[in-house]
Amino acid sequence: MPELSRLPTPVAESWDWQLRAACRGRDNAVFFHPRNERGSHREERERHAKAICAHCPVLAQCREHALTVEETFGVWGGLGESELRDLIAYRRRTARLSP
Ligand code: SF4
Repeated sequence: MPELSRLPTPVAESWDWQLRAACRGRDNAVFFHPRNERGSHREERERHAKAICAHCPVLAQCREHALTVEETFGVWGGLGESELRDLIAYRRRTARLSP
């Protein structure tokens, strides 16, 4: 579940990158799993989503957004859910260690 308090302010410049997203207009079902999806179905769907992300001109912005708001549902910035969870946990650990 994303941390809503971390969302950018409602200013167009904070969200305009989404207008150039490679996933714009595509079926969301590629990026967000249905309930109880498991195993090879999930792997294949994520592989397809990541292939779209690989050619996305705003991959970096999308990934940073997902990590900032701690989004762990779906594929964002070319990362799957377990990768997002791992990076978010890493950021939290390193943030605690920072002076
Ligand atoms: S990186 Fe992937 S999920 Fe993010 S905007 Fe681009 S295509 Fe969509």
